Amino acid sequence: MVGIVIVSHSKKLAEGVRELAAQMVQGKVPLAVAAGIDDPENPLGTDAMQVYEAIASVYSDEGVIVLMDLGSALMSAEMALEFLPEELRDKVHLCEAPLVEGAIAAAVAAAAGSHIQQVMAEARGALVAKATQLGVAYNLTPLVPAPLSASPEEVRSLEEPETKKIHITVRNKLGLHARPAAKFVATAARFQSQIKVQNITKSTELVRADSINQVSTLGVRQGHELAITATGSDADEALAALQALVETNFGEVLPDVETQRRPDTQIHIPSSHHFLQGIPASNGVAIAPVFLYRPTPIDIQQYHVDDVEAEWQRLQVAIQIAHEEIEAVFSQASIQIGDAEAAIFDAHLLFLEDPVVLEAVQQRIFEQHYNAEAAWQAVVDELANNYRSIEDSYLQERVADVVDVGQRVLRLLTRFQSHIRISDDSHINFNLCEPAILIATDLSPSDTARLDPAKVLGICTTSGSPISHSAIIARRLGIPAIVGLPPEILQVADNTRLALDGESGRVWIEPEPDIQTALEAKRNAQQVAYQQALATAFSPAMTRDQKQIGVFANIGSIFDTQAALNLGAEGVGLFRTEFLYLERTTPPTEEEQLAVYQSIAQLLDTRPFIIRTLDVGGDKPIPYLNFPHETNPFLGWRGIRFCLDHPDIFKTQLRAILKASLGHQIKIMFPMIATVQEIQAAKAILKEVQAQLSQAGIPFDENMEVGIMVETPSAVVLADKLAAEVDFFSLGTNDLSQYVMAADRTHPRVAALVDALHPAVLRMIQQTVQAAHQAGIWVGLCGELAADPLAAPILLGLGLDEVSLNPQAIPGFKQAIAQLTMAQAQTIVASAMDQDSAADVRELIRKLSQH
Ligand code: PEP
Ligand code: MG
Repeated sequence: MVGIVIVSHSKKLAEGVRELAAQMVQGKVPLAVAAGIDDPENPLGTDAMQVYEAIASVYSDEGVIVLMDLGSALMSAEMALEFLPEELRDKVHLCEAPLVEGAIAAAVAAAAGSHIQQVMAEARGALVAKATQLGVAYNLTPLVPAPLSASPEEVRSLEEPETKKIHITVRNKLGLHARPAAKFVATAARFQSQIKVQNITKSTELVRADSINQVSTLGVRQGHELAITATGSDADEALAALQALVETNFGEVLPDVETQRRPDTQIHIPSSHHFLQGIPASNGVAIAPVFLYRPTPIDIQQYHVDDVEAEWQRLQVAIQIAHEEIEAVFSQASIQIGDAEAAIFDAHLLFLEDPVVLEAVQQRIFEQHYNAEAAWQAVVDELANNYRSIEDSYLQERVADVVDVGQRVLRLLTRFQSHIRISDDSHINFNLCEPAILIATDLSPSDTARLDPAKVLGICTTSGSPISHSAIIARRLGIPAIVGLPPEILQVADNTRLALDGESGRVWIEPEPDIQTALEAKRNAQQVAYQQALATAFSPAMTRDQKQIGVFANIGSIFDTQAALNLGAEGVGLFRTEFLYLERTTPPTEEEQLAVYQSIAQLLDTRPFIIRTLDVGGDKPIPYLNFPHETNPFLGWRGIRFCLDHPDIFKTQLRAILKASLGHQIKIMFPMIATVQEIQAAKAILKEVQAQLSQAGIPFDENMEVGIMVETPSAVVLADKLAAEVDFFSLGTNDLSQYVMAADRTHPRVAALVDALHPAVLRMIQQTVQAAHQAGIWVGLCGELAADPLAAPILLGLGLDEVSLNPQAIPGFKQAIAQLTMAQAQTIVASAMDQDSAADVRELIRKLSQH
């Protein structure tokens, strides 16, 4: 029997429809609901994964009909189809019939044993009966859009309330530039009254005060006089609020920039030098011209649409997501650079809410039947040209903001149009002739992984965090990097000379000669220290009292391996194999993987080589694996969870690892283990693959060690039980810290919380080490903590058997161990456990290491 799926934003609505339909057919027809989202605060919405599951629950060879309410319900349903295997997809039909009538008609037809096409036809004709009864002529052509409702302006004009007016002079330094304009518009929008503003000095027209673009184009500068009118019930309050805003200079304080910044402990520079402060992400100094990475513009096509309502809804969804994205950038910017500076993003948000822009786009969609992309693009272009035509250099700079927001929405729209989550088509294609410092809003791990350190001497981004995968890769590549910089950095023109200090997180634009000299001296000092550390990097990491700790490398490719060996790595403690899966359109084949594993194993000879199985998800989504959109990707379908659900992909990798293992010391490691069942299931699949190889007479290392990453709090708590299942543990403190501290590892605003030196995390490590040793297995640590220059005494004192870290940090780590005794390290650990914060632990290590 044909199955029916009801998709709605509202769970209650969908359940009601199901109840009605089920009653009609006495429960004979398989009916499933995919409605609402799992967010108690905001439960209205649709989720492609739910739709997929609902389809699966009623699927049969007879087919499935999916009925949806509107907007994103359609997108979710379309996306759900993409998740289905191709052979099943043909049997699932999305039906444009009205939800309630369509579901009932479809259920009745399905219960009567009709085939799928008849069921669809019944659903489509479901309104005919209602229309006939109401005496309305009805055919099945698309509905004509409802006329646009009268604007508040039109409604108010009928009542003609009194208009109030004030005149006021703008005194702040840059006039109504983006940030003050944003505040002005946001204030005006708080009131019911219709507010308009005019630049008297420039004799402009009176424009709407709730439109960021109209206000910005007034070209208001310091000293200009404004006339502000308000018509409506709260006109007086509105004018008073706007007057107060202008008179307080929009809250603009113009402090000496230096006083806002953290004290510079590293280099002494005259305080008069301006610099931008970001979050240090990768150590080192770089001085070079700028290369500003701009995503490739999106090429869009214009076409005629019939279903204008759906088109408008599609745009609304894209705007909503753009809004969320900008809010995230806004909040991270405010913590790093202060609310006043971050308010630039307010202007971006207001652009998305601008009634004038939205009305213009709506008009193109509803009246001219433009597709959403074309309508949006046309309005954005028009606006950008308006800005360009104004003779005001500041306003001309706003073009970049308009284009930026415009492109963000377009990218989202084009993503939805192709029904699947595709990778951003704005991939970096660096054609750098000269070495440069790269500036970007953000870089994905795959973008970063492709950087050539000989060409990209430094990285500056406005988003990101020091333990995001992009930052980890930058450190691995030895590229100095600063994340979370203020957005001004994006205004720097190509080829401008820039200096950056990855240790202090500071950037100087066109640095003065004395800063350049100081930074060069610092770079030289760092290089000398590094060379000294390198001289002992090939000896084992041995304390003064002869306690040894193994030091291995974290790698992401073949190319890292030789570099790691050259820096004193005693083997590989973590191969992040997910990098083999990036930058492609299909997963790597068994042969391709085997070739990589074999090449690395050959370089390592019989040194340990820990291969971590695919750890996708989190901040490493892989477009072709069709990941559904996740609200919390780090808490979602990641690592082993994904692999256990995709045994085909998992087995291919296991086969390749096993085949490469003979004659080497390869160990296998499963990521993101949170339960005993997961490791048992992973081992069972491994056994199955081993049995198949044995049967086929293919040799492999039958004694290969099997371990897990301990990176979830549950794995720590269950460490005794998990230890009984495996040969080793490796602590993943990057993830463990984010889960223990409940703070996203990529979120700059909570970056201080995700510090693995926090006593809460250190206690988790201690607990894991004790459980492992009690069970007689060895335990290592492969999180970024190991590369923290202060962490060496802690890791030693905690009793870890080995650490695995970014190759560049190996010489320094070994050098630090050589200066310690075990007793000293244990004393530091004992006190560290009793501290209140990571900052206290750092302070303690600094103090005690000197004794
Ligand atoms: C970790 O979580 O500490 C780890 C090493 O794994 P990744 O950073 O790749 O998630
Ligand atoms: Mg991890």
